[in-house]
Amino acid sequence: MTERPATPAPFTTDDYRARMARAATAAADAGLAGLLVAPGPDLVWLTGYRPTSASERLTLLVLAPGHDPVLVVPTLEAGDAERAPGAPALTLRDWTDGQDPYAAAVPLLAGGGRYAVSDDTWAVHLLGLERRAPSSTSFTALGEALPMLRAVKDTAELDRLAAAGAAADAAYEKIKNVRFAGRRETDIAADLAALLREFGHAQVDFTVVGSGPNGADPHHEADDRVIADGDMVVLDFGGLKHGYGSDTTRTVHVGEPTAEERRVHEVVREAQERAVRAVRPGPTCQDVDRVARETIIEAGYGDRFIHRTGHGIGVTTHEPPYMVEGELQPLVPGMCFSVEPGIYLPGRFGVRIEDIVTVTDDGVRRLNTTSRELAIVQ
Ligand code: ZN
Ligand code: ZN
Ligand code: ZN
Repeated sequence: MTERPATPAPFTTDDYRARMARAATAAADAGLAGLLVAPGPDLVWLTGYRPTSASERLTLLVLAPGHDPVLVVPTLEAGDAERAPGAPALTLRDWTDGQDPYAAAVPLLAGGGRYAVSDDTWAVHLLGLERRAPSSTSFTALGEALPMLRAVKDTAELDRLAAAGAAADAAYEKIKNVRFAGRRETDIAADLAALLREFGHAQVDFTVVGSGPNGADPHHEADDRVIADGDMVVLDFGGLKHGYGSDTTRTVHVGEPTAEERRVHEVVREAQERAVRAVRPGPTCQDVDRVARETIIEAGYGDRFIHRTGHGIGVTTHEPPYMVEGELQPLVPGMCFSVEPGIYLPGRFGVRIEDIVTVTDDGVRRLNTTSRELAIVQ
């Protein structure tokens, strides 16, 4: 059975115009003179423009409250930029090899003040701007100045995130039926990547297969270890479908689990369930982390839960808001993030369970809905 995913209507110039207006307002509210956005997820979200790669040639969106947005681009890429869906809402200003691109950009910052620079702007470009800018100009990281800029998703974005989640769920339902015992982690990872593509992902970002002791390393991806009967296997996979992210984790067991394996899995399942139920408008991101963590501490595994409980997701698979101690941002309808507690027993095995959820007007909706019970695979 092959899914025939409906392609969502593309975002329009008006959608990008509205996002840029919203970003300019947020900048003004934060006391910023403007935003400087180089190629990366912020530029994609604001303009729909995704140059083939970030490069040593400066591409920079200058977004200042009260001014028309300007995109500084290398002349040889101006044609590509013009075809971006947000381009009609922009003024393009191109510069040619041999010219100083920073000299071309700096007059746009003429008023001085504090500019927020997108997090993935190359240092060479920020230093070039700093060298040319008047001394009344200062720079700060966009991710620190406006961490919630992309955090609240609109209906069209939520539809894409839901479709990406459903595709990842379909991949999980199929991977449960493949043979695990006797195959390498990298074989299962390749199966997962193929399934994500089969269900409409254009990009696969990660396919974690952590079997046995490898599952105790949350950042383990997949290696040559041959999976054996009796292994717990952490499966954490995701990527981009229609430009929006998926990210889900299930932990399966090859053959019959021990009582301890069942118990640890049940603690994580309970922690994840309670944390998801705590999601609604009002509580903070920290509260979600605390609910998950308290459940694991009560069960005696507090020191084995070694990462935050979750992260936002949108045009990237990891972004604000972060469900972590110290994050006092209240949850707002439209926020979309992971809830993914885990327990990691070094040298033995690990368990993690992860769903993407979104905050609704009065509660929470899971975008991953496969069973969270411990699945037995062969
Ligand atoms: Zn086992
Ligand atoms: Zn994940
Ligand atoms: Zn995640």
